[in-house]
Amino acid sequence: MSSLDSKWMWLVEWRTKRDAHIWLIDELLLSTRTKYQKVELLKTAGGLRLVLDGKTQSTEEDEWIYHEALVHPAMVLHEKPEDVLIIGGGEGATLREVLKHTTVRRVVMVDIDGELIEIAKRHLVKWHKGSFEDPRVKLVISDGRKFIEREESDTYDVIIMDLTDPTKDSPSRYLYTLEFYKEVKRVLKPRGIMVTQAASPYYAGKVSARIYFTLKSVFKVVRFYMAYVPQFLAPWGFAISSEGPDPLTLSKDEVDKRLKIRLKGKLKYYDGETHEGIFKLPKYVREELGEEIPPSTDEDPVYLPV
Ligand code: SAM
Repeated sequence: MSSLDSKWMWLVEWRTKRDAHIWLIDELLLSTRTKYQKVELLKTAGGLRLVLDGKTQSTEEDEWIYHEALVHPAMVLHEKPEDVLIIGGGEGATLREVLKHTTVRRVVMVDIDGELIEIAKRHLVKWHKGSFEDPRVKLVISDGRKFIEREESDTYDVIIMDLTDPTKDSPSRYLYTLEFYKEVKRVLKPRGIMVTQAASPYYAGKVSARIYFTLKSVFKVVRFYMAYVPQFLAPWGFAISSEGPDPLTLSKDEVDKRLKIRLKGKLKYYDGETHEGIFKLPKYVREELGEEIPPSTDEDPVYLPV
């Protein structure tokens, strides 16, 4: 939920039913409703900010932390990521990070909202840096769930879920369920890796835990990790899953070696040392992930209360 007051323009972003963060809006560049969601582009502290349905997706100042943390651990874990699928990722920054890997031959990016992609292409150049024009990229405007259900088995090396948080009305709600993850596993090649953003374990511990246990009921290896994203004002959760490859077996030196051989372009957040750190979870998160809870299903999907 956000409110724009005409005299003092503020973005009010609810974190729980009882607390919100506010940002002064220096400039309102765009406010529209697409078929799927409300889109706002604002200038605030943190620079240009993309807000969907009242929730900050990323800001100019620190989007690189979220996008590097989402993309590189999974890409580096794979021995040779050639075929990559991104579901969501409207800003084009996840795509930008994937394309830094020289092993990549083909990236299919599937986002439900074609109007949002057009807005991103025009206004979020600092995010996508022209990535949509890369000849390795195929952009598909479709619901990610419907897309994956039509894909052939054993197609992708890495699948990256860069989706809006699951809320009661969000179009991403059925992309955090057991049934969906089974489809993800089916279209991954046998040594394939999947990664998803998994909400904030600080504000939404039960949501993060539910995503984690849903993945655990489908994949052999599931590892949760976190990155602090300053403009989210919270540590953010992610989860990597596979049928074999395990990020905990990658040493700092091996990560740095793989990055050196494969990467074209610079990183500011992720390297071998960061890799070692992000999988070390604080006690309250380990405890939350230590108590098994039922998976999210199509019949009873996980969602954030606000
Ligand atoms: N950084 C993020 C965050 O904070 O949650 C995610 C950013 S990205 C902008 C989220 C994208 O997910 C949007 O572009 C939205 O259109 C897309 N999306 C939501 N539901 C989807 C679905 N069912 N299929 C494909 N894309 C979807």
